[in-house]
Amino acid sequence: MRKLNLRQLILLLSVSTAVLVLANTFYTSHKTQRALLIVQTLEANSAYASKMADSVNSFLLAAQQQLAFAAQDVLIDKDNYDHLDRIVERLKQQTNSFNSVLITDEVGIVLTITPNNSSLMGMAMQSLGAVQALKERVPLISKPYISATNRLLVFITQPIIDAQGTYLGFIGGTIYLHEKSILYALLGQHYHADESYIYVVDQDSHLIYHQDSSRVGEVVAGNPVIKQVVAQQAGSQQLINSKGVEMLAGYAPVPSAGWGVVTQRSLKATLAGMDQQMLAVAQYSFPFFLLIVLMVWVVSRWISKPLWQLARSAESLDGDDANAQISKISVWYFEASQLKRAMLRGLVGLNKKMGKLNLENITDPLTGLINRRGMQLTLDAWEKARQPFSVIMGDIDHFKLINDKFGHDVGDEVLKFFSAEMHEFSRPDDLVCRVGGEEFLMLLPNIDKDVAYKIAERLRQRIEGDICPHIGEPITLSFGVASWPCGQASIADVMKNADLALYAAKGAGRNQVRNSDILCE
Ligand code: GH3
Ligand code: MG
Ligand code: MG
Repeated sequence: MRKLNLRQLILLLSVSTAVLVLANTFYTSHKTQRALLIVQTLEANSAYASKMADSVNSFLLAAQQQLAFAAQDVLIDKDNYDHLDRIVERLKQQTNSFNSVLITDEVGIVLTITPNNSSLMGMAMQSLGAVQALKERVPLISKPYISATNRLLVFITQPIIDAQGTYLGFIGGTIYLHEKSILYALLGQHYHADESYIYVVDQDSHLIYHQDSSRVGEVVAGNPVIKQVVAQQAGSQQLINSKGVEMLAGYAPVPSAGWGVVTQRSLKATLAGMDQQMLAVAQYSFPFFLLIVLMVWVVSRWISKPLWQLARSAESLDGDDANAQISKISVWYFEASQLKRAMLRGLVGLNKKMGKLNLENITDPLTGLINRRGMQLTLDAWEKARQPFSVIMGDIDHFKLINDKFGHDVGDEVLKFFSAEMHEFSRPDDLVCRVGGEEFLMLLPNIDKDVAYKIAERLRQRIEGDICPHIGEPITLSFGVASWPCGQASIADVMKNADLALYAAKGAGRNQVRNSDILCE
């Protein structure tokens, strides 16, 4: 697998860090935002429930006061039916608190009623509220019940007691729970369209007000909030309602009637706006995020460039221009600069060592001449550079005899002497090589075959004329000469030609020079 480079790594690290930070920010802000919204909604509902409970309480107290005042009024002229009619009419019209108002005598016979209901006039009241009022003879707010006229209602009553303390009956006002009443006026206008609503329960958990009026009268059991509010507690709570919906509820009691007001809003509706809000935040922050990525990309390029360039140069440290390449790299921070210096220093050392190694590799230890490997390297380079040259190949005549006669060590000395002589004879550009036991050759760049022949002949004559110091007599060599380029022939072919020419010289009696007689086309 391809390894990632530094720039990709920096980019990967930065982008993943940015994504993680962003995700974390979103996650935590989402969580806190959510918790905050819930707390705020609970608080708002609690406050709202308190306010509504206060309103209902005040209304009930005011209604009771109105009835109390009217009860006093009755005493002014208690036997005058017109007077009583006016009182109930005034109560009904002036305050709009009640759906109906009536006055009974001490046994519950209806003396007057408004709106006029002939079926009740003169009848004894049997309803739950009336029976309780007659029995207890104190100001009362009844439980909701179904009246004789088949209406669910609450009956608010006030006893009529004269100055002597004689109970004369009661005056009562009804609030119809299923119809437009003061409760609707008080509570209904406040309910929001956004799935938040109010309801009111009595002390037995009956719904006495609900936005869905068909539910009025229903008993709501098992709701923890209702349990609390019926116990006359105020507060707020998150709950799952009877329809299985998660709700945020606030609640407060209505002490005068023992009722409870609950305002609630579904959790879903509360949080609905939030996702939108988070999306908007994401949209706003996205260009910023892109900008960061872009910046990181540019900076990572800037940081990684010198290291990348150094790494690239490290791949080709053995190249000729490695030093120049590394020197050119601009480094602007500590690590890269140290690395560059270390690489340059290392390169110098390496070159020195390699040079020494190379030299050892291509040198014949006995004579100090270039060996066969060195010759081959040179020929390869010349072939590549198309460097014309001639080769003079020489072989000592009857060297075996010298060894036999004087010993191997003397033979070595002769080889050394002869090498020195050949080296001395050569021009600076020429390459003198020892390629076998007593075989030598000279590579002469830019020398053609005829000139090379003459040089070889001169060398032959010189050696022939010299007394070899270790053996006291001259030695001779036979030579073969060839040149390159030579038609389509390769350098290897040319070397073979020189070899053949040398053998021809040997065959012709030794101590002579032969040109390669193979024609080049
Ligand atoms: P010619 O070339 O004239 O045909 O005869 P020659 O005796 O030189 O024949 P050949 O080339 O077969 O023999 C080469 C001899 O050179 C054989 C070997 O003993 C000797 N020789 C090779 N390398 C060395 C060396 O490093 N030192 C010494 N002293 N002798 C060597
Ligand atoms: Mg030989
Ligand atoms: Mg020989």
